[in-house]
Amino acid sequence: MIFCPLPGSPTITQGFGQNPDMYKQYGFDGHNGFDFGVPEGTLIYAPHDGVAKVTDDGAIGYGLYLVIDAPTRRSILAHCSQMLVSDGQSISQGDPVARSGASGNCYGAHLHWTFKILQHGLVQNKDNGYDGAMDVSELTRLWQQQDLRRDGQFTSEAQGYLTLNLTDNQCLKRTVT
Ligand SMILES: [Zn+2]
Repeated sequence: MIFCPLPGSPTITQGFGQNPDMYKQYGFDGHNGFDFGVPEGTLIYAPHDGVAKVTDDGAIGYGLYLVIDAPTRRSILAHCSQMLVSDGQSISQGDPVARSGASGNCYGAHLHWTFKILQHGLVQNKDNGYDGAMDVSELTRLWQQQDLRRDGQFTSEAQGYLTLNLTDNQCLKRTVT
């Protein structure tokens, strides 16, 4: 199961699939993730376990960003101001991993989160119009209604979600034909 990388009920400033005209240049049908409008310095938590890959692209693209890679899934957490993990470090779900910011190509301080399903290290559903990025809004909404975890400790309400698993075609914006 995955969790939203921010606690509480963060405002989604750009949802999945929005602004198709803006994202055409990148080959996407729309926004390939979620933007959360949070102030610079907000703690970001790992949506799932994995290994950290830290990249700093400066003022372009995702800026200072973290990829959390696991055999079956990948999260990209972008436009950060600070990394709390180092490249190659193993991360557990719920760990604080970074602080939000406005680095890279950015309209203001926010956290961009892209989530993809992997199999044997390969991104699945790459032809879904978002290079495999998935709309996890339903799961995010569930998470936002409750504070499910702190530093890897899960509340009793979280246990039901922990046993859920995504199938290949779940939460896809466009079904693979
Ligand atoms: Zn974004």
